Amino acid sequence: MSRDPRYDILFEPVKIGPVTTKNRFFQVPHCNGMGYRDATALATMRAIKAEGGWGVVCTEQVEIHPTGDIAPFIELRIWDDQDLPMLARIAEAVKSKGALAGLQLAHNSMNAPNLYSREIPLGPMDLPVYSYFSDPVQVRGMDKEDIRNFRKWHRDAAIRAKRAGFNLIYVYAGKLFGLPMYFLSRRFNQRTDEYGGSLENRARFLKELIEDTKDAVGDTCAVPCRISVDEMVGEEGIHAAEAQDIIGHLAELPDLWDLTLSGWEYDSQTSRFAEEGYQLPFIRGIKQLTTKPVVSVGRYTSPDLMVKLVRDGVMDLIGAARPSIADPYLPKKIEEGRIEDIRECIGCNMCVAGDFTMTPSRCTQNPSFGDEWRRGWHPETIRSVKKDAKVLVVGAGPAGLEAAMMLGRRGVEVALAEKGEPGGRVLREAKLPGLSAWKRVTDYRLGQLQRATNVTLYRDSALTADDIMGFGFEHVAVATGSGWRSDGVGRRLLRPAPLPGADVLSPDDLMAGMRPKNRSVVIFDDDHYYMGGVLAELLVKEGFEVSVVTPAAEVSTWMRMTMEQLFVQHRLVNLGVKIISHHYLVGADGPRVTYACGFTGKETTIDGCSVVPVTARLPHNSVGRELLARRGEWAAAGIRSVTLVGDALAPGTIAAAVWSGRRYAEEFDADEGPVAKDMRREVTGLAAGPFYWEGEGAAAK
Ligand code: ADP
Ligand code: SF4
Repeated sequence: MSRDPRYDILFEPVKIGPVTTKNRFFQVPHCNGMGYRDATALATMRAIKAEGGWGVVCTEQVEIHPTGDIAPFIELRIWDDQDLPMLARIAEAVKSKGALAGLQLAHNSMNAPNLYSREIPLGPMDLPVYSYFSDPVQVRGMDKEDIRNFRKWHRDAAIRAKRAGFNLIYVYAGKLFGLPMYFLSRRFNQRTDEYGGSLENRARFLKELIEDTKDAVGDTCAVPCRISVDEMVGEEGIHAAEAQDIIGHLAELPDLWDLTLSGWEYDSQTSRFAEEGYQLPFIRGIKQLTTKPVVSVGRYTSPDLMVKLVRDGVMDLIGAARPSIADPYLPKKIEEGRIEDIRECIGCNMCVAGDFTMTPSRCTQNPSFGDEWRRGWHPETIRSVKKDAKVLVVGAGPAGLEAAMMLGRRGVEVALAEKGEPGGRVLREAKLPGLSAWKRVTDYRLGQLQRATNVTLYRDSALTADDIMGFGFEHVAVATGSGWRSDGVGRRLLRPAPLPGADVLSPDDLMAGMRPKNRSVVIFDDDHYYMGGVLAELLVKEGFEVSVVTPAAEVSTWMRMTMEQLFVQHRLVNLGVKIISHHYLVGADGPRVTYACGFTGKETTIDGCSVVPVTARLPHNSVGRELLARRGEWAAAGIRSVTLVGDALAPGTIAAAVWSGRRYAEEFDADEGPVAKDMRREVTGLAAGPFYWEGEGAAAK
């Protein structure tokens, strides 16, 4: 197939300073939880995006100096020449697959507590760090000498980036990560010298850095500037009108403008809180202020919208972080006229959680993400089976669908049996407020299965162990999912709460359409991810009075990892949901519900309530367990393996279920069973001596 001529414009080359990108698909810098710890894994991940057709593939932020160390988060570093082999590997990998390689120089300034380097952080003024954990560290306001030093560090880093082989070398003034942004923002910069006050003064530092970088590497490398066009705090910070003035002032200086919102939580909002392209009102008109190309993001996955953005003069290059994670092959699929094969990002920010948990990012839609090198998984292809195999997959939730799809790609003959309609938990959860985009997880896989000739989906097929023993499949994957508990057991309560005569509904009951008998509802959220908050939203919008009792300090506290917690709390408070933090459910006697303070144990009882415990799930594993218990009968039934997959093995996130399905497809025929025997690790090389134990005077050698 070939591409639809409507999309030709997306494949036009664009000149960016001294370099030219082959098309308009631009993977903007994004973190991934791998950084300097997992450099080869990171290089492989970036190379696969280049292979998938992105014209430009950038690194995440690369710290230029130990005074801008964002530990414990794991990004890249370009502190000195020791970092070059790692960076060169990334640049080479990307370029070998036909893309331009970009590197984002960064100094985290007020966001950098320097926990690793122990250096004093630097910024425009003496203030506490603005770091994620509110560390007890203060920033030192930079004097003129600091500014001079900084300019040299930045210049040196740019030269190193060029030596490492990068084609685009960013100056970063965005998302409350880049030091020049703190100079731009009037709330962080109240200096009275020529670097503070007027817009021209506040922009001076950024101007100097762009000039220095162009002077240092601009002969062969493009120098983009990534800048925040709104801090989302009104006129106190950078706002749309002021951003236009700043960009107008520096219009022709960088080779490319990369436009973002600040902080990161506003730039990378989830589908629950913002539509595709929600940044547009902030960036419209900026392209008209400069002749230089403009790139911006917006979770764009629709080629029609991309074309419109270019034609309407909003941007020249379609920026993507998350869409390129969910589908590294997005450009290639458009080019090959395979639009229906695009695996669209669902906007869940599970990938962001990788950065926040300092572990390789995982993606709900693309289970290979982060495992490209470690496990050798590819987002599109998978090795074919050595010999014919017939596999029965029981349950068509995200785990079963992924397993069946990837087994199909391996050339296995697959029967996928589903008790009801395919989709599993995604079918139910996508109907909850704000989660409709999650349906893309099942839509994509069902679309792929429809076109697979070797996979047959059987609907309305609730299988028993006896049924399965009678079918004669060699391998059986049991992906029968899980169900929410309704007894309150979870983290805080390890035994069921006494609930005699209470009106108790589980999340599954609510998703099945049942509703509380009482007007007031107590949600006991000891799960801390989205379910408690989303059910509160559902019920309050239907007119129930909702209280969320949680042992945590805030509602949906784990959603800090997806940068949604503040949006959840904001929405629930606005909707009138009462949030009772640091409390746990004691029990209920009919409609009288008692909860207690997590510190003092002091109890409060409220009357007239129903209870919704959102605490834990139990695997639906009875079929799987029975099959495993009947191992002695397998040979006669022609069965070689039975494997529990996804939530049926252990309830987790949708991302974990999809990953588990992929793992099954990868490993079901491994001789030694489905274990991660091949996961590779990269171990840092040991430094050379001298060491203090090598004798007197060794340190002076
Ligand atoms: P996961 O997240 O692991 O994919 P889900 O709960 O989303 O789990 O999906 C499990 C699916 O398995 C559901 O669609 C459910 O209807 C189906 N299922 C459960 N038990 C059986 C069974 N005995 N036979 C066929 N399908 C089943
Ligand atoms: Fe998109 Fe979610 Fe994947 Fe991130 S984890 S790329 S938000 S689907």
